[in-house]
Amino acid sequence: RAKAEGRNGFQCYTRDMGLQALQRVELQSALRLAVEHDQFELHYQPQVAPESGRIVAVEALLRWRHPVLGNVSPDRFIPLAEETGLIAPIGRWVLRSAGRQLQAWHAAGHTRLVMAVNLSARQFITQDIPQLVRETLELCGLPPQALELELTETALMHNAESVHATLSTLKAIGVLLALDDFGTGYSSLNHLRRFPIDTIKIDKSFTAEIATSDDTAAIVRAIVEMAGSLGVEIVAEGVEHEQQLRLLAALHCHRVQGYHIGRPMPAAELAPLLGVPDEPPSCDLMLDETHD
Ligand code: C2E
Ligand code: MG
Ligand code: MG
Ligand code: MG
Repeated sequence: RAKAEGRNGFQCYTRDMGLQALQRVELQSALRLAVEHDQFELHYQPQVAPESGRIVAVEALLRWRHPVLGNVSPDRFIPLAEETGLIAPIGRWVLRSAGRQLQAWHAAGHTRLVMAVNLSARQFITQDIPQLVRETLELCGLPPQALELELTETALMHNAESVHATLSTLKAIGVLLALDDFGTGYSSLNHLRRFPIDTIKIDKSFTAEIATSDDTAAIVRAIVEMAGSLGVEIVAEGVEHEQQLRLLAALHCHRVQGYHIGRPMPAAELAPLLGVPDEPPSCDLMLDETHD
């Protein structure tokens, strides 16, 4: 602020604010039309088991391509979608699209592949998540354990009672529950104790320091050991360097994810990386292909 005043007085400051506000309103109404206008796309980032080098899961990450604004980062539009309630239709679109994509990969013989989908805190309040999940599994003919829902600690903090009930219902359905950005929240260990978590995703800020800070490496080692005793899977996010990968593999981290392994990419780019199918492709898929 001081800089703006020094340079051009208050006018500049208020004009800047006006511009920001305008952009916000613009973004908001643009976001409202994005679903209808087919501007969303899912990219998929591989999660690899270090032992086999195989892709065992993929995380669906939402991409918004606006004709004028260009690519808008989810870190910018997801909070806006949450505030405006648009996260409900967007979240439904994400889950269904990810489900259909996984259905296609399962039909191609990758029957053990898991799809991770992000859920935002707001969705727990505004949406009947278990019903949405049931519908998606049924619509796509997927087994529940093929779907992993990623929750942040923020989602668990608010409304703990009702979130607990929702998570128990999801558990009963049989989907996997992952705690995203683990270690960055207020009471990570408490959440582990109270909620039926299957997977911990170690936040990328830990991975970033694992090869350079002994303390961070010790913390990651402790998290992996704790997860082992709890029977929880560990995913390390944000693996950008070979040395980080080697350290995580030595710790027997179950899955690694990051730019060094593979960037988030369109389904067509990821497909060839899935390797040899577990099973021969199903007839369904062959039929689909002849119709296309
Ligand atoms: P997240 O769920 O923690 O996803 C990981 C983010 O880290 C992604 O950013 C991914 O592209 C990025 N990333 C992956 N590997 C690396 C790496 O090696 N280094 C670094 N620096 N970053 C890496 P992205 O796609 O921009 O998404 C940001 C956040 O937006 C996500 O964080 C998630 O919280 C949210 N988000 C994305 N898609 C959805 C969605 O469909 N629904 C909801 N509710 N939230 C979403
Ligand atoms: Mg995530
Ligand atoms: Mg994360
Ligand atoms: Mg995040």
